[in-house]
Amino acid sequence: MTTLPTSRIIDGKAFAEGLRRRVAEAAADFLSRSGRAPGLAVVLAGEDPASSVYVRNKAQQTVEAGMASFEHRLPAETGEAELLALVARLNADDAVDGILVQLPLPAHIDAQKVIEAIDPAKDVDGFHPENAGRLMTGLPALVPCTPLGCLMLIKSIEPALAGLEAVVVGRSNIVGKPMAQLLLAESCTVTVAHSKTRDLPAVCRRADILVAAVGRPQMVRGDWVKPGAIVIDVGINRIPAPERGEGKTRLVGDVAYDEAVQHAGAITPVPGGVGPMTIACLLRNTLAAAVARTGVVVDVPSA
Ligand code: NAP
Repeated sequence: MTTLPTSRIIDGKAFAEGLRRRVAEAAADFLSRSGRAPGLAVVLAGEDPASSVYVRNKAQQTVEAGMASFEHRLPAETGEAELLALVARLNADDAVDGILVQLPLPAHIDAQKVIEAIDPAKDVDGFHPENAGRLMTGLPALVPCTPLGCLMLIKSIEPALAGLEAVVVGRSNIVGKPMAQLLLAESCTVTVAHSKTRDLPAVCRRADILVAAVGRPQMVRGDWVKPGAIVIDVGINRIPAPERGEGKTRLVGDVAYDEAVQHAGAITPVPGGVGPMTIACLLRNTLAAAVARTGVVVDVPSA
C-alpha cells in the first residue's frame, strides 16, 4: 500500500495574529517617535450586512493594533459628489495615513472614480492605478492586502521561490492580477488562468504554487494538485450544510480541501487560512503608508 504524503496545514489565523503583534509593536514605536499613532479611515456607504461586519472588524483590529481608527458610515443614498468630497477631506487630513472605501459601493456611485480620487500614498487597499502600475514596474507600492497576505503565507513555507512554477486561477484586479505580479517579482514562472483557460486541470497540475481565487466552491479537485505543491485557497463561498440542521450553511474555499490535502505539500484551510491575513495586511499597509508619508523609521513587516 502506498502512503500518501502528509500536508502541512498553513495556519493563517496564527500567522495573522503574529503579524498584527509585529505591526502593533511598530505602531507603538511610530507613536513614540512621531507623537501620533498611524491612522486608518474606513468609509462605508450603504447598509450591506457583510460590508458592515468587515468595517466593524477592521475598526476594532485597527484600535487593537494601537492605531487611530476613523470610521465614516454614510447612508446608501449618499451622492457620488458627497463621497468624493469626503475622500478629498481625508486626503488632506494629516492624521489619516490610510483610506479604505469599502466595496461594493451603491450602484449610483462610480467605484473606479472613487478609487482614483484616493491619494495613492494613502491607498492602503492598493487598488489605485498608480499603485497597480508601480507594482507591475517593480517600484515600491501599496499592494492589495489579500495577495500580499497570500505571499506571506507562501514564503512562510518556502522562502526561496525563484524558478518555481506558479499558477494563479482568477484574474481580478484585487486578487489574481496582483498575486501574479507578486509571484513574478519573486522570479516564479507565472501562469494566470481564468474562465477561458483550456484544460484547467492540466494547467494546475504544473504548479509548484497553486493559488485559487475564483469564487466557485471546491472547483479545484485533488487530482489537479501536483504532489507536494503549496496550495493557497483564497475563495470564500457559503454552501448549504443540511448536516448541521435545516437552513444551515458553512464556508468552503475554491479548493476541494479534503481531496487536495491528500496531494499538497502545504495547504490553507477555509476558514482560518487566507481570510485572517487580509485585515492584518491592511494594518501593515497603514503602517507602511504612515512611514512612507512621514519618513519616521520603524520596522515594517514585509513578505
Ligand atoms: P472575481 O472578481 O469574481 O474573479 C473571479 C475570477 O475567477 C475571474 O478572473 C474569472 O475569470 C475566474 N473564473 C470564474 N470561473 C472560472 C472557471 N470556471 N475556471 C477558471 N476561472 C474562473 O473574484 P475575486 O474578487 O478575485 O474573488 C475570488 C474569490 O476570493 C471569491 O470567493 C472571494 O470571495 C474570495 N476573496 C477572499 C478574500 C479574503 O480575504 N480571503 C478577499 C477577496 C476575495 P474571468 O476573468 O474570465 O471571468
